[in-house]
Amino acid sequence: VPVSRIVAALGGNAIVHGADTGPTAQQESVALAMTQVAELVAAGHEVVLTHGNGPQVGNLLLKNELARDVVPAVPLHWCVAQTQATIGFLIANALEPSLHRLGLDRRVAVVVTRVVVSADDSAWWTPSKPIGEFRPEAPAAPDREVWRQFGDRGWRRVVASPEPLEIVELETIRSLLEAGSVVVAGCGGGIPVVRRAYGFEGVNAVVDKDLSGALLARSLEADLFVIATDVKGAALRFGEPDEEWLGKVSGAQLREYASQGFFEQGSMAPKVEAALRFVEAGGRTAVITSLAEVVGAAEGHAGTIVDGGV
Ligand code: ADP
Ligand code: MG
Repeated sequence: VPVSRIVAALGGNAIVHGADTGPTAQQESVALAMTQVAELVAAGHEVVLTHGNGPQVGNLLLKNELARDVVPAVPLHWCVAQTQATIGFLIANALEPSLHRLGLDRRVAVVVTRVVVSADDSAWWTPSKPIGEFRPEAPAAPDREVWRQFGDRGWRRVVASPEPLEIVELETIRSLLEAGSVVVAGCGGGIPVVRRAYGFEGVNAVVDKDLSGALLARSLEADLFVIATDVKGAALRFGEPDEEWLGKVSGAQLREYASQGFFEQGSMAPKVEAALRFVEAGGRTAVITSLAEVVGAAEGHAGTIVDGGV
């Protein structure tokens, strides 16, 4: 069996169920998700995992705010780094026993990952990514922060979401993979940094994890890019009576649907965009699927399968 290299991006919603973001609930959700990922590894693939951190980073921001008179608040990119470590730990701790149960003694390596963004990205002028909790009112002293109202649900902080350009730890990730580890990298879209003469500087933004997952998949020359979420794929007229789930679809056709506005901004649109970027850059196949069907998706019979046409 030829070994194929898979980059799998797991959605925050796919690994945290419901409103309970307590440690026990997170641990249980991650453990459940890892039984699926272990199957993928057991099928003989090289696997790199990346994942969202929405609920976790939201909790950290709130803690910062509530405790700022007692301990110093830390920047948003520190919060991203902290969630990479914690979620990475939960994944390693759950995935290793899952692998062991399948007779595999594989090591899991968690890489704190920086992603380069541009200081000139136009996203800095148009903050678009909502993060953290809803508030009934915008806070009185916004402190250079941007808050936006989301209908009846209330106000939410929005931050810039610049384009991911380069993964700083790419060669580290590649060597770990080639040494036989299952690699966890780029959580929460990666820690956003800009390049300086002396190295890198962290910046306060949130990189979209689907887009940085596509960059990771392209940069590692993955055979397959899997985007696992809480629905079975991308649908046309989602939620309408004539909803139509997409199965196999060409990149050109999906690009057409995307430009017609079939996919919701902030949820399905970035996944479709990520899948398209991967195949348009020469990747063979990208698939959008539910976490439960991730193994079937890797075998080519589940999810929305985007064909690069090569
Ligand atoms: P994740 O945490 O995996 O990134 P998101 O909530 O960002 O999950 O995106 C998945 C959600 O996108 C689904 O739960 C679904 O409600 C929503 N969605 C919006 N438009 C569509 C569509 N056209 N097809 C399928 N799902 C859609
Ligand atoms: Mg999402």
